[in-house]
Amino acid sequence: MRTKIVAGNWKMNKTATETASLLTELSGMLPDTGARVMVAPTFVNLAEAVRLMVNSKIEVVGQNMHFEESGAFTGEISAAMLKDIGVEAVILGHSERRAYFGEDDALLAKKVAQAIAQGMEVIFCFGEELEERKSGKHFEVVSAQLKNALFALPGEAWKQIILAYEPVWAIGTGETASPEQAQEMHAHIRAVITEKYGDDIAANCSVLYGGSVKPGNAAEIFSKPDVDGGLIGGASLKADDFMAIVEAAS
Ligand code: PGA
Repeated sequence: MRTKIVAGNWKMNKTATETASLLTELSGMLPDTGARVMVAPTFVNLAEAVRLMVNSKIEVVGQNMHFEESGAFTGEISAAMLKDIGVEAVILGHSERRAYFGEDDALLAKKVAQAIAQGMEVIFCFGEELEERKSGKHFEVVSAQLKNALFALPGEAWKQIILAYEPVWAIGTGETASPEQAQEMHAHIRAVITEKYGDDIAANCSVLYGGSVKPGNAAEIFSKPDVDGGLIGGASLKADDFMAIVEAAS
């Protein structure tokens, strides 16, 4: 069966000192869980985070990477650089990357392909905006995001893909999709994957929900059959909150 996963996206938060103390707290509190637990600190703290978590079950992942192998791309980070410091997974397609840094499906397809080629796992984020939901286009938008960025991949590559449905209107807003809205979309996502790749790949792919997940709503959202855990922003910055969410997925 699919693995439950709880991943914390720290975004542009936490200095090196704060990163070390949050990680120490988290690893001390980690419950005995069958779920995978991941955290994504900022690039400058990744190597130290990997070092600190070497004896912990907490996996350290990246928040982004460039699609080229190497070269003259000032300010960018390659998959090989992440792998070399022990980072085996990367978040791609986050709505903040799409909105503030102009990342579109075509660019994301290249990033995903590069990460897969380098043997990394990808937490691929996607989701509709408020206007798209209001006008009833959300299923269509999500289908297109998946097709455009992922459907050139061979079936084999899906072992390295984790999906994170994050409706843009729910990210950092305090407004969460209802458990029913999440389940409805997750079932749609699985149907779209089934259509292209068949039942096995669709059934084995973990699909996380993201957008204002908190200790108070996590258990209900994660109880839905097609929701396999969460990608957590704000609530991943406090050890108590994040661990309560991990418990909810256990
Ligand atoms: P949030 O962010 O939990 O703060 O809404 C989720 C995300 O951006 O992944």
